[in-house]
Amino acid sequence: MSYVNSKEMLIKARKEKYIVGAFNIVDYTSMAAVIEAAKEKRSPVIIQTSQKTVLQFGYKILPLMAKTLSGEADIPVSMILDHGTDIEIIKNCINYGWSSIMVDGSSKPFEENIKITKMIADIAHEKGVTVEGELGHIGGIEEHINVNEDKVLLTDPEKAVEFQKRTGVDSLAVAIGTKHGLYKGKVNLDFERLAKIMEITDFPIVIHGCSDLPEDDLKKIIFYGPSKMNISTEIKHAYLDSFKEYLEGRQEKETETEYEPIKALKLVFDNIKILVSRYMDKFGSTGKV
Ligand SMILES: [Zn+2]
Repeated sequence: MSYVNSKEMLIKARKEKYIVGAFNIVDYTSMAAVIEAAKEKRSPVIIQTSQKTVLQFGYKILPLMAKTLSGEADIPVSMILDHGTDIEIIKNCINYGWSSIMVDGSSKPFEENIKITKMIADIAHEKGVTVEGELGHIGGIEEHINVNEDKVLLTDPEKAVEFQKRTGVDSLAVAIGTKHGLYKGKVNLDFERLAKIMEITDFPIVIHGCSDLPEDDLKKIIFYGPSKMNISTEIKHAYLDSFKEYLEGRQEKETETEYEPIKALKLVFDNIKILVSRYMDKFGSTGKV
C-alpha cells in the first residue's frame, strides 16, 4: 500500500476509533518529514497542500514527490488540497493526481455550498478522488482563509446529515469552535454539538484548527471520534523556528560565519518529524498499518 485516496483510510479510522492526522506541508523537506514519521510509526497519514503551496510549486511536482515518497515508505499516504475555494485550482489538482480534495464552500449560503460541493464531488469521484466538504464556518486565519469571530458559524448537526446526503462528500469538516492559527485567550469548544454530530452521522468527520489546542480539549475531541484532524500552524512554526535554532546554534558553536542551508533543513526535517510523531501517538493512529 502506498499512495491512496483517503476514503477507506477515514472510514476505517471512524470504525476503529482512531484519528488520521492531516499535516500541512510546504515543500519537499516538510513532506518527507511527515511521511518518514508515518513510516516509523506505521501510521496512515494525509499530506495537506494549501492553494498557495500548489501555486508555488505547480501541479506536477507535488503529486510526483508524494507518490515517490509514499511508495518508498510502504504505508498508506493520501494527499489533499486543503480549503479549495478556487474551482480551477481544484479541477487541476483532480486532474494532476491529488488523491483527495477539499471543497470549501463554507462562506456561501447553505444551498450554494451544496451546489458547488456536489458539482466538484461528481467530477472528483469519477476520477477516484476523495472529497471533503465544509459546513459551518471555522474561525481564524489560515493562508487565504480569514474568518472573523462574528462570521464563525457552528455546524448544525441535522444540516450536516442533509449536506452529506445531497453532495455525496466522503467526509465533512465541521465547526465546533476550533480555530485556524494560534489560540489567543480561552478556548471554547462545543462538545455537546460534536457529540450530537457523531451520534447522528455515519460518515467521517473532520476537525480543522487542531494546532495549539490545550491538551484537555485535544483529548476530548479525540474521545468523540472524528476521523481526521488537521495540523498546520504548528508545522509552520516548527519549520521557521528550525532556521532560528540553526542560526542561534552557530553562535554557541562559534561557527557564526557558517551558512549551511542543508544543516538548517536537517533541523526542519527532524523537528517536524518529532512533532508529527507525537500527534500520531495522541491520535491513536500509531501501529494501525
Ligand atoms: Zn482548515
